[in-house]
Amino acid sequence: KQTSPAQCEFYQAVEEVLESLEPILENSADYQKNAIIQRLVEPERQIMFRVPWVDDDGNIHVNKGYRIEFNSSLGPYKGGLRFHQSVNASIIKFLGFEQIFKNALTGLPIGGGKGGANFDPKGRSDSEIMRFCQSFINELYRHIGPTTDVPAGDIGVGAREIGYMFGQYKRLTGRYDGAFTGKSLLWGGSLARKEATGYGAVYFANYMLQDNDDSLKGKRCLVSGAGNVAIYAMEKLYQLEATPITCSDSSGTLYHESGIDVALVKKLKEGARESLAVYLETHSDAKYIACADYPSDGHAVWRFVADAAFPCATQNELTEADARTLISNGCILVCEGANMPSTKEAVDVLLAAKIAYGPGKAANAGGVATSQLEMAQNASMQMWTFEEVDTKLQQIMKNIFDTASNTAAEFDQPGNLVLGANIAAFRRVADAMIEQGIV
Ligand code: NDP
Repeated sequence: KQTSPAQCEFYQAVEEVLESLEPILENSADYQKNAIIQRLVEPERQIMFRVPWVDDDGNIHVNKGYRIEFNSSLGPYKGGLRFHQSVNASIIKFLGFEQIFKNALTGLPIGGGKGGANFDPKGRSDSEIMRFCQSFINELYRHIGPTTDVPAGDIGVGAREIGYMFGQYKRLTGRYDGAFTGKSLLWGGSLARKEATGYGAVYFANYMLQDNDDSLKGKRCLVSGAGNVAIYAMEKLYQLEATPITCSDSSGTLYHESGIDVALVKKLKEGARESLAVYLETHSDAKYIACADYPSDGHAVWRFVADAAFPCATQNELTEADARTLISNGCILVCEGANMPSTKEAVDVLLAAKIAYGPGKAANAGGVATSQLEMAQNASMQMWTFEEVDTKLQQIMKNIFDTASNTAAEFDQPGNLVLGANIAAFRRVADAMIEQGIV
């Protein structure tokens, strides 16, 4: 920490994992002898590069591009690209580190990686987005490929950006292959990939509840975010007869007591990319709380009374005070669609309260798992039906839940899915590293 004080998100992620690995590390000379932890926390490769591009008025901009190829012991590096003004080396590194464990939990042959740029796509024209994506790929193309490193989307990167990046990759390499996932259905994408992270998180929540002979049916749910993950989490909640009553974006939180109109949020966000405040023009009975009016110690979205909470926006969006409010309001489940949305202090509060808590690396793994299903379809030149992919997704989420839950019980902490997920994932990665020697 003293040598690199700026990497706070990365240290937060590592600390959480190392803490829960204590019971397994204490009793394994093998992991210590092979310096597994020292090797695991150091990325195999970090690529940082300049991304120059020209806006519609002829002005030149320069952004910072990143790709962290963290660990390839289980397969090609796999993980999304994030385009957001907050992106820096620490954020990409924490995301890449988490990705190793998440991918291991899926049971599929994928290693961990992540990338992105400190580029703010908001308010940019399609041509500007295209020029930025092309410039980003002018450097990244040489590092990626279907058996080496396979990027996907994340915050600020959806089908449009993947399309522009794939087009430039194809032009530079002359190859038409599965070097990206999250592609359009017209040219190599997988049905159900767009829905997979949100759907998967909701399936995971239902498995957690079913373990206590309960289900999501009839539950009122708080959701944060209004992007890819949040939208499809809300859609699946309705399908399972639960009601999402909130969502949020980077300017504020929306509360609609009778239930969020998901079709309208989709239209506002996927189409025109507008603020959620515009929702009130259609639903005057909804309430909008601007960020300026948030409580000083947390996020407005977690202050409403509900049975379950689904953080689906970004890291550290659920604070200790938020966690305490959720619990005192009777919330029985927190299931993370986003990566590391709860602060360390919030996680401690949720675990101490012994409510059902699904950590992101387990609960949101449905996205990357379905990306791997996209890779499998590309490699075999097939396209599976929505139902086939969705059935596999449900099975994968059930396996992840069972693995995390059984591992927690094995280590005498039943119900602690943080510990269960971290240990189960670590064992798979560490054992593969040992078998592959000191590399
Ligand atoms: P999107 O860009 O589609 O949506 C992100 C949403 O969160 C938007 O509503 C955005 O607001 C809001 N948001 C982003 N950053 C902030 C911020 N700093 N403060 C407040 N609100 C913010 O991203 P995704 O839905 O794809 O990703 C959401 C989370 O899920 C991320 O943590 C991502 O890493 C994680 N994830 C995503 C996967 C995927 O398949 N897409 C897979 C696994 C995890 P606005 O609309 O104003 O931009």
